[in-house]
Amino acid sequence: MKVDFSKATAGIYDLCVIGSGPAGITFALEAARMMPRASILLIEFGREAMPAHNVLDDSICIENLRNHHEPYECTNKGLGGSSATWGGRCVMYDPVDFLSRDIVRDGCTWDLSFLEDVRRHVPRAAELCECGQGPFDLAEDPARAESRIAEGFQSAEVTDTVVERWSMPTQFGPRYRKEIEASPQIHLLEGCRASRFGPPDQTGCVSELFVRVGESATESGVRSRRFVVAAGTQETTRLLLRSPQLFAGLAGVPDALGRYYQGHVSGKIASVQFHGDPRKTEYGFLREPDGTYLRRRFHFPAEVLCRENLLNTAIWLDNPLYFNPSHRSGAMSFMYLAMITPVLGKKLAPPAVAHSVTKGKVTGVPAHLMNILRGLPGSLWTPASIFYRRYIRRRKLPGVFLFSPQNRYALHFHAEQVPDRKNRMELGPDGDTLVIHYSLTDDDVNSVIRCHELLDAHLRKLDCGHLDYWFDRAAMPAAIHDMSRDGIHQSGTTRIAAAPEQGVVNSDLLVFGTENVFVCSSSVFPTSGQANPTFFLCAMAVRLAHHLAQA
Ligand SMILES: Cc1cc2nc3c(=O)[nH]c(=O)nc-3n(C[C@H](O)[C@H](O)[C@H](O)COP(=O)(O)OP(=O)(O)OC[C@H]3O[C@@H](n4cnc5c(N)ncnc54)[C@H](O)[C@@H]3O)c2cc1C
Repeated sequence: MKVDFSKATAGIYDLCVIGSGPAGITFALEAARMMPRASILLIEFGREAMPAHNVLDDSICIENLRNHHEPYECTNKGLGGSSATWGGRCVMYDPVDFLSRDIVRDGCTWDLSFLEDVRRHVPRAAELCECGQGPFDLAEDPARAESRIAEGFQSAEVTDTVVERWSMPTQFGPRYRKEIEASPQIHLLEGCRASRFGPPDQTGCVSELFVRVGESATESGVRSRRFVVAAGTQETTRLLLRSPQLFAGLAGVPDALGRYYQGHVSGKIASVQFHGDPRKTEYGFLREPDGTYLRRRFHFPAEVLCRENLLNTAIWLDNPLYFNPSHRSGAMSFMYLAMITPVLGKKLAPPAVAHSVTKGKVTGVPAHLMNILRGLPGSLWTPASIFYRRYIRRRKLPGVFLFSPQNRYALHFHAEQVPDRKNRMELGPDGDTLVIHYSLTDDDVNSVIRCHELLDAHLRKLDCGHLDYWFDRAAMPAAIHDMSRDGIHQSGTTRIAAAPEQGVVNSDLLVFGTENVFVCSSSVFPTSGQANPTFFLCAMAVRLAHHLAQA
């Protein structure tokens, strides 16, 4: 049910959840299911009909806009959080992400038991994310285990069976609002900002959270027996940084709080030329009987990553760069021109996604128009059919991947980052502004290049294909530094560890120094892996609800 501020501040709740993105909603729904008598307050900063600007995003200062998107491109506010614009790509974390490896130095502060525990909750997370119940590795699917990404490919040093599964994409706000508002247990308070925690008592129990209505500076306390911070990485981190009193029982505020901020290194530096039959290349989506879209990724087994001291990396087949008309595809030129058209472009994709297509360039318009004319009627027919499948259907076509009669595809990489202390979020001198420091390390960049070399060697050994690089070897590091931009996959700043000397929460997601404050955000992930974070986060949110129900 919906509640107003005076009602929310009147009682004592069993659970108070801060933030209603995929993590907060997944947790609240599962907690209500597991604890049918619990009263749950769900506090959301955003509200319906929000103005274009808000006090949270306006008080974020990003130091390196070359590699990090602007605040308004990184998150969304309101019921459902950033699922309002997410792509819906659901990917599982890999066992290697939980192993201590030389390249991540002392950065891997969780272990395989955590993965095993979260895995038990994958079916429920898949149900809520609506990405189907099939496996994340086609090797486990008898119908597809023997099929390959391209003729002549075999899995060894590189594999082709790991898949991403696609959500509708489910926008958690519209999808679950009715259920939340109909629930007698979940009390939804919108338009309120959790601003800081009250101090814990001698036993570490926190009883009060201070909340502001909208943009006002006046605070009032809400009371709860347990708190779950699910405000997304940057706002979860800011709330804990603004609440140093939580750590009064420790030697100090944990050193890891705000540090080890990670995203993913991503971009394109090469194309693959397959040697076999082009019609046997699985360049696009696979579909399950229930309609779920899947897509293959080149993947590197744990033993290869450890032997070569590399970061976990996925590489998938992609279209050539849209902005460069030399691809000669009328359909791609048409879609590029639509994306760079003011107003229309903004309606077709959120800015961070549009940027990955256009690279922010407006170029070669006459040549694009020639491509469209030369390719008629396909130049119009292909985008029209894509438009229908991508924007009209309930389960949306997640992306656009076009067949190459030459059997040649661009390669898109998506790679783990080293957990680096220097990448961090901290409060500015006013005690509220969140200053974000983010850049790539040499290890991040060199690992991407080496992974491409391994893929090239593997394809050549099989005589299945080879890579053609877009840059000289010497120019490649600078090119990767220039092209990679994140801020939409945030993790690392409140990481899980065994003790407050290494992290901020324990493996039950309990904040060190407290007995009843939990963090449910990808900010707890100590390593970023190759996986987009939201699916694993939702499975972790289900796990937390089960843990609290048992406690
Ligand atoms: C353009 C784009 C595309 C993406 N695509 C993918 C994808 O394909 N796959 C994938 O895995 N991930 C993707 N992501 C990332 C994904 O959206 C996030 O991982 C996910 O939304 C995080 O969920 P969350 O609940 O932790 O935080 P959020 O979704 O950010 O929600 C946090 C909520 O908390 C509220 N809040 C914040 N501070 C406070 C406060 N102090 N008090 C009260 N409420 C507060 C916010 O208003 C917000 O509603 C994408 C993100 C973007 C921006």
